[in-house]
Amino acid sequence: MSTVADQRGSGGLGTGPVRRVVDRFIGDPVGPTHIVVGRITGNEPSGRLAIEQTAGSIRNRNLPLHGRVFLLTGNLNAAQQRQRYIDADLNRRWTRENIVRNTPSPQRPFTISEDREQHQLLKIFRDILGTAADEVYVLDLHSTSADGVPFATVGDTMRNRRFAMMFPINIVLGIEEELEGTMLEFLNNEGAVTLGFEAGRHDATGSAANHEALIQAALVNTGIVQIGDSPRHEEFLDRLKKVTGVQRIFEVRHREPIAPTDNFQMYPGFQNFDSVRKGQALAANCRGEIRSSEKGMIMMPLYQKQGEDGFFIIREVARFWLRLSAVLRALDLARFVALLPGVKKHPRRPEQLQVNTRIARLFPLQIFHLLGFRRLRWMHEFLVVSRRRFDTQSPFTHKEAHHG
Ligand SMILES: [Zn+2]
Repeated sequence: MSTVADQRGSGGLGTGPVRRVVDRFIGDPVGPTHIVVGRITGNEPSGRLAIEQTAGSIRNRNLPLHGRVFLLTGNLNAAQQRQRYIDADLNRRWTRENIVRNTPSPQRPFTISEDREQHQLLKIFRDILGTAADEVYVLDLHSTSADGVPFATVGDTMRNRRFAMMFPINIVLGIEEELEGTMLEFLNNEGAVTLGFEAGRHDATGSAANHEALIQAALVNTGIVQIGDSPRHEEFLDRLKKVTGVQRIFEVRHREPIAPTDNFQMYPGFQNFDSVRKGQALAANCRGEIRSSEKGMIMMPLYQKQGEDGFFIIREVARFWLRLSAVLRALDLARFVALLPGVKKHPRRPEQLQVNTRIARLFPLQIFHLLGFRRLRWMHEFLVVSRRRFDTQSPFTHKEAHHG
């Protein structure tokens, strides 16, 4: 744990220099671990503000912790420059190749600023995960360039769902399928329970308060802080309830990818969760108008320069389907799907399946979603899917008996 200890900050509020490890608290070392990351995107200050508030409140009240808490800054250099990123989006760089490349201590200078950021974060994550004796939870704090109701983005494993549903917030499932190399996808594959949270507009005053309410509620929901020790717990839940309304669960249906040369222009006035019709004009680029491919709701319309996602289209998921997939995954039916006609195991990667959609015609992706697979790509008539790792089982909790 030396890395973490060495980089620990003083716990001061607000005005100090931006630090990688804003603070860390080791209560019961064999209890659950709670990691909070703010500013993986450097132009989203509210997550880090909330982290500093939380650090201050844990310290001032000398809160008894039945576990470990790590409060981290994601993209340090970009946060200092108040940009989304310096050379590359740090939240799209957690691919297998990058992780291998940035894992050892390279003596060479980093030519890409985000490689250095990733190298440092990897070291910290590996220290924390390697010493975890119980469940590890990660919150990744974000804000959006458009206004709208806050929401969680959740990789669709049963463990992630269960955790997310403990908070009175809207949940968007499956965004990791649309995005290559997010930090949470990496941490999921390392066995952590993860939750991304979009707290509101970047500069809205309520965003930091929403973030703080989420972090504080999570301290209780992870079991690290007892409800009785958190006198403002109800207040934090009420805040999330008030900004959310009735909790709803959505799935991502479409992502509008953009390249810097596209000259993408979102039409003005869209907010998160605004309804859109099929065929409705939403944006324009150098090739013409961009219309919605289906009826649904808009999510994260891009009203800033940097970014690779123009907008997402989401749709509400009925509770029936969530319950059905929970049952199917508990039965572990995924073990048998390779026996189906038109389904083949990847010759070298046993967790991957190739589905011949000429043979397995009926809603192949939806069926694989239910069973706990995620789409990797379409190749002609083949759909390539991969089993989500640690869907129902934690790699951490069996290490030692659960602490009393
Ligand atoms: Zn962000």
